Amino acid sequence: KGKRAFIAGVADDNGYGWAIAKALAAAGAEILVGTWVPALNIFESSFRRGKFDESRVLPDGSLMEITKVYPLDAVFDSPEDVPEDIKTNKRYAGSSNWTVKEVAECVKQDFGSIDILVHSLANGPEVTKPLLETSRNGYLAALSASSYSYISLLKHFVPIMNPGGASLSLTYIASERIIPGYGGGMSSAKAALESDTRVLAFEAGRKHKIRVNTISAGPLRSRAAKAIGFIDMMIDYSSVNAPLQKELSAEEVGNTAAFLASPLASAITGAVIYVDNGLNAMGVGV
Ligand code: NAD
Repeated sequence: KGKRAFIAGVADDNGYGWAIAKALAAAGAEILVGTWVPALNIFESSFRRGKFDESRVLPDGSLMEITKVYPLDAVFDSPEDVPEDIKTNKRYAGSSNWTVKEVAECVKQDFGSIDILVHSLANGPEVTKPLLETSRNGYLAALSASSYSYISLLKHFVPIMNPGGASLSLTYIASERIIPGYGGGMSSAKAALESDTRVLAFEAGRKHKIRVNTISAGPLRSRAAKAIGFIDMMIDYSSVNAPLQKELSAEEVGNTAAFLASPLASAITGAVIYVDNGLNAMGVGV
């Protein structure tokens, strides 16, 4: 029987979320996505106008279908948490049911259950500031959008995930090694995400037989990465220093996600899996 996946954090065809959706679709899964509310209109209209058609092509020649796009803002768990200025913001007012709890309820109403949950989102308003210059609010916002958002998603989706299901997120090596420029508490947020992956693997594994893993991905020129400002340097650094001297494609991360979500990975949980051309294994630049 075909599996159903919910992928949070798809708003264009340049990021890891899109590539994961494609790899899961190519493996036969039905695709649902959660798109950040302020990015929803442009994503849906671009999709309708055919802007993504070229990148929707699957290995068998067919186009990836997205069964449903849900508006989502993963920094809010339920309607009570939404402040007045967001509620009345015109980019939010046109959508409804976009808090994590409500999205999970809508998916349950529409489809009953899912098998695969993917968290491919991050946000750190002060990412360009060094940690020493990061404000308390900036730090907490990075953790809220990039780390707690995963706990919240898993918490609300686990009850509608079929036993044997799999969940995964995306992390970055700045959690464990110094990457100057990845600031604003984003390195801290990824460290939390990786630690939480282990604890959540235990809890969701014992309670619901669900596996929880995270992919530590190498650099990709996504919209989010361009906003950090050093992505081209990171890509160059990797192609000079990594064991495999090729540019990392989003498809390679997508394929790993499809493997981790499949029964081929049935004994893998609580793991950080590197998909980075081996750069993490280097001790010095060469
Ligand atoms: P991306 O821009 O494609 O994805 C980030 C998504 O997060 C966007 O669609 C954005 O709209 C969404 N988002 C931001 N705040 C949100 C919120 N509050 N609620 C819901 N959605 C929200 O960029 P990407 O680089 O593919 O990022 C996906 C994941 O991959 C992130 O966790 C990122 O940290 C991770 N990652 C990226 C790289 C890289 O080099 N690009 C490397 C390692 C890990």
